[in-house]
Amino acid sequence: MESMLETALSQFHGAADHLGLNDEHREYLTSFKTAFHTEFPVEMDDGKFRVYQGFRVHHNVARGPAKGGMRYASHVSMDEVKAMAMLMTWKCAVVNVPFGGAKGGVLVDPRNLSQNELQNLTRRFTSELEPIIGPDKDIPAPDMGTNPQVMAWIMDTYSMSHGYTVAGVVTGKPVALGGSAGRFEATGRGLLYVLQEHLRADGGVAGKTFAVQGFGNVGGVVSKQVQMAGGCITHLSDVDIAITSPTGIDVASAFNFVQSGGTLTGWNEQHGHHDVISHASILTAPVDVLIPAAVEGVLTEDNAGDVQARLILEAANGPTTTEADAIFLERGIEVIPDIVANAGGVTVSYFEWVQARQYIRWTEERVNEELRRLITTAYQGVAGRRTAARSKASLRDAANWVAIERVVEAMTLRGIYP
Ligand code: GLU
Repeated sequence: MESMLETALSQFHGAADHLGLNDEHREYLTSFKTAFHTEFPVEMDDGKFRVYQGFRVHHNVARGPAKGGMRYASHVSMDEVKAMAMLMTWKCAVVNVPFGGAKGGVLVDPRNLSQNELQNLTRRFTSELEPIIGPDKDIPAPDMGTNPQVMAWIMDTYSMSHGYTVAGVVTGKPVALGGSAGRFEATGRGLLYVLQEHLRADGGVAGKTFAVQGFGNVGGVVSKQVQMAGGCITHLSDVDIAITSPTGIDVASAFNFVQSGGTLTGWNEQHGHHDVISHASILTAPVDVLIPAAVEGVLTEDNAGDVQARLILEAANGPTTTEADAIFLERGIEVIPDIVANAGGVTVSYFEWVQARQYIRWTEERVNEELRRLITTAYQGVAGRRTAARSKASLRDAANWVAIERVVEAMTLRGIYP
């Protein structure tokens, strides 16, 4: 099966062909400024220590400091992190926030760690990252398996070694520590704003049916947002269970249950009582819109032909392989690509970073308004670019053209030194 890095590179080269990019730019943009790998010990609750692997990659910083999430997951690898860092470069460029791309993570299943062990791991990893992160260098944020508490520990560890509080070193912090109002919901809210814009001439969100794969920070919030906008979630899954209800699942109730420490399985047993289905059937469910909000590489040549939704909103990063993309284009299934669809998170991270550096606070209304403006503008720019091309292109192609052009422009203006 195609790896995430292969997918990212093949998408890049497709766009580079269309743009007629020269070989030097191709070589530069498929290389990585920094690829950091460390193996570090963590003290466990039983008094022994265990060694973990950590990664942090900066892809390209022509447009500003490197920016991207930090994931704790049992599939993290250098290649995965490289692919994700590259996607962050394009994502920041397409929404036009002044950042380059980064990503990092630790190879660990955080569900197997106590809070104390999670804290020890985070603090030790942060101290290993000390030379390469910083508010003007590289600004981590939450991703799979991490959350505002983890960001608070990163911020504190970095600040302790500098002797003063450096709030701008991470985003996605708790609001009480200088996190931005609206950051926690930002990715989900941005997904809804993009969807509303896409469906403006097509009846809007209300009354449409949805299948959502993933019920974490992104899947949970986008489900709630879609439900509040009148959409009906008929199919839903997390890592443990997949459920369906023809009349709709009360995802707001389920997400509140999960946020207060429960599981989707527990919620369904106590409250939902919905039919349990196979995980695979979520992606091929008979719905109007499919939202993959879990891991990468789930839509492949094996299942793309069976997808029944007419629209795919990529909440996860990299959920669609190159082969699946080609099948969707052929079948007339529209894909709103990750780098536009889920850019609400990094957009509000940018707002958080700006607020931290100016020691000011925006209201949640202002955050949401600015988010809607930036992400809607980005979507319109991409859709307009595709229309102007008059060729059979996907929204992903158009998004990559816009993003790569912006990065190349910045690289060219800066020049190569010395
Ligand atoms: N992890 C999120 C993403 O993949 C957010 C990154 C950020 O806010 O820097 O876009």
